[in-house]
Amino acid sequence: MLIDSHAHLDFPEFDSDRDAVIETGRAKGVEFIVNIGSSLESSRNSVELARKYPNIYAAVGVHPHEADKFDDKTCGAILKLAGEKKVVAIGEIGLDFYKNYSGRENQIALFKALLKVAKDLGLPVVIHTREAQIETLDIIKEYMPLRAVVHCFSGDVDFLNKCLGMGFFISFTCNITYKKAQNLREMLKLTPIDRLMLETDCPYLSPEGFRGKRNDPSFVKLLAEEAARIKGIGLEEIERATTANVRGLFGF
Ligand SMILES: [Zn+2]
Repeated sequence: MLIDSHAHLDFPEFDSDRDAVIETGRAKGVEFIVNIGSSLESSRNSVELARKYPNIYAAVGVHPHEADKFDDKTCGAILKLAGEKKVVAIGEIGLDFYKNYSGRENQIALFKALLKVAKDLGLPVVIHTREAQIETLDIIKEYMPLRAVVHCFSGDVDFLNKCLGMGFFISFTCNITYKKAQNLREMLKLTPIDRLMLETDCPYLSPEGFRGKRNDPSFVKLLAEEAARIKGIGLEEIERATTANVRGLFGF
């Protein structure tokens, strides 16, 4: 059994065939999906998906790209949604100083506001960080102890060790299959199996051979096979560990 720990099935890319996509995933062994909010609207839709599908759980949050639009009212709405049944985390939240779609000050304010929500509610967080690793960890430190997963891990061994040192889970996407991603494969190898999580981040980041096409939860199977190969262990061990890690962090 596998879990897609980070999907965006609420996105319009899935409007025409959402049911079929979920079934195809299940046929490949992807039993559960955690659908991740990226804006208030997307968080609402994630909760809706969790209501509709027994095998979907939701995270609610606002992506740093949306920070310029974030205000107290939005924060209150996220807080309220976070109390809904089957909401298992706050996310995705964090900092993105690569694309800088929103101002840095606003990104920091949003990140802090939703870390506080997570802390107040005792929920884990799903962290997005790009070109902002030091800043991200410095801010999280103000809210520790917190349970977290660093999603779509990209970084060096120093950042990996800092995240592991804070007790966080490390989640890898299908971009570990890209020819140029030797460094990412190295980071996966160095991630202890009891901290490893797998995700598609679909519809983004389709694996090698499918790039340019829509990603979907069924590709967690391929991801697990690749992770097993990189670590030199059995597929069953990867499935067992990553499933236990996701269920342990999100509590379902
Ligand atoms: Zn995402």
